[in-house]
Amino acid sequence: MPERADLGGERAAALDVLEQERFDLVLVGGGITGAGIAREASRRGLSVALLEANDYAAGTSSRSTKLIHGGLRYLAMGDFRLVRETALERKVIFGQAPHLAEPRWMLLPTSSWLAQLKYRLGVTVYEKLGAVTSEDVHRNWSGSALEQAEPVLARERFPYACAYREYLTDDARLVLANLRAAVARGARALNYLRVEGVIEEQGRVAGVTARCAETGRTLRVRARTVVNAAGPWVEAVRRLGWRDAPDWLHLSKGVHIQLPRERLPVRNLVMLEAGDGRILFVLPRGAVTYVGTTDTTYHPGAEVWPQVTQADVDYLLEPLTRFFSIEPVRRDEIVGAWAGLRPLIAQPGKGPGELSRRDELFVGPHGMVSIAGGKLTGYRHMALSVLKKLAELWGQRLPEPSGDPVLPGGDFDVPLEVLAESLAADHSLVPAAARSLSRLYGSEAREVLALGSTPLGKEQWVFEGEVDWAVRGEGARHLEDVLYRRNRAALWAPDAAREVLEPLGRRMGLILSWDESTVQDEISAARDRMRSDLDFSGEQFSSEPV
Ligand code: FAD
Repeated sequence: MPERADLGGERAAALDVLEQERFDLVLVGGGITGAGIAREASRRGLSVALLEANDYAAGTSSRSTKLIHGGLRYLAMGDFRLVRETALERKVIFGQAPHLAEPRWMLLPTSSWLAQLKYRLGVTVYEKLGAVTSEDVHRNWSGSALEQAEPVLARERFPYACAYREYLTDDARLVLANLRAAVARGARALNYLRVEGVIEEQGRVAGVTARCAETGRTLRVRARTVVNAAGPWVEAVRRLGWRDAPDWLHLSKGVHIQLPRERLPVRNLVMLEAGDGRILFVLPRGAVTYVGTTDTTYHPGAEVWPQVTQADVDYLLEPLTRFFSIEPVRRDEIVGAWAGLRPLIAQPGKGPGELSRRDELFVGPHGMVSIAGGKLTGYRHMALSVLKKLAELWGQRLPEPSGDPVLPGGDFDVPLEVLAESLAADHSLVPAAARSLSRLYGSEAREVLALGSTPLGKEQWVFEGEVDWAVRGEGARHLEDVLYRRNRAALWAPDAAREVLEPLGRRMGLILSWDESTVQDEISAARDRMRSDLDFSGEQFSSEPV
């Protein structure tokens, strides 16, 4: 049985508890790194409080390419250990949350047989490192097989393709699943609670001070050790306890754009080697195909979240007509876009594309533990290395947890398609909606629909029950939280998301007792966010190595 608990609940009481208890760990940051540590620590009987300044996963962990992968590209960089670790991790995540790790073919199109051979060799090593089973071993497509598999590929230029297995995830929902599993083991987690300072006792960091974004209440949360998992903000949090901490990170901005699916109707995941060492992914999902990513140094720091610029957009659009038989895509055809920041460990003289995606741990002079670098895929390894470090610092062995329970929603052993078909039959859903709900919630999709199975708009993208589930079960506080990080219609069906703003605001308002002006403010804020996603007029920052 999965371990699961709700993230919603009465806020004032949750704040009281945070202030009254003394925890083994206070975790700063509710992205995948913090959520993964919270789960692994609570499984070992540690008392944990996780504080998140914004919404859970609002930072980089909702803005990735959403691949659970070893990164074929890092193989070329010679980072075998990282690739092995993360390639093996794919199976573990699939085992714990099959709805959040969808096996798909990733196509590598090539212009010659020799180039295909080069890929096949690389992929074979990758498969060995990842212990891939025979049914998932790569395929080589050409001629009519390739035409059938990927009709939109420009086959006169790319007559060959190697197709290997990768896993598509839902980054924000993987965060929520880990948090709910942690809370089921007694962890406390609260979003919209920013850490603003540290409590020092006898020269050691002994907790944090934090401010609730909703009430303005400030509180002191005490802990044996504070773990800083603030992703791109990790340096800012480190400096709360150590003012002169040296620079540590190299922030790299990564942009994705969403196109209407019919403008780039790929059937598989596609990886393009677009020249100059550029690697782009083209991935179909919901009503869109998304394309990413850029990889440019970002100087302003995470306090100024990056905008998507025209240069980013042009960089992503440019190779498409070379690889696919499509008319050039105009900027105004883009239906959505997002920018993320990779919190990479700086290495003097190296640009973002050359930097390792390895994680690094650092214990500050006053005992705060900070972790950065790494990938979404490696979150469990990062959590385990933090726990190893804590055991070392505390001079005690941590108990090994028994078993490895599945994550919430992951307790089903039929193919996801079967789950979706029975959901469609029982609730009169179109197949796409049933598939989408099964991917979002796994075995819990039925419970979600039991809360309300009427769609909020004309199309079946957002259901009434999802709003209740998002608020009560998953801690959503704003419309944006639901559309961007719970149901995710803002990413996979942006037009449908715009259409449901009004009914969504009303239903959420009922649950959270909003007055009319709050409902209207929330609707406007969500509309503004969707509008600003498509405003590419921002400033372009340098892509030179720092
Ligand atoms: P975040 O998710 O940013 O979380 C940090 C959290 O800390 C934030 O929610 C923030 O609000 C909170 N915080 C900050 N300051 C405070 C404070 N003072 N008090 C309380 N909370 C605070 N990895 C993969 O494995 N696969 C991919 O396909 C992939 N694609 C990527 C594509 C892009 C464009 C980018 C940018 C990254 C990608 N990655 C990928 C890497 C991966 O997304 C990141 O490594 C990972 O999400 C980082 O998670 P995190 O929890 O460390 O940081």
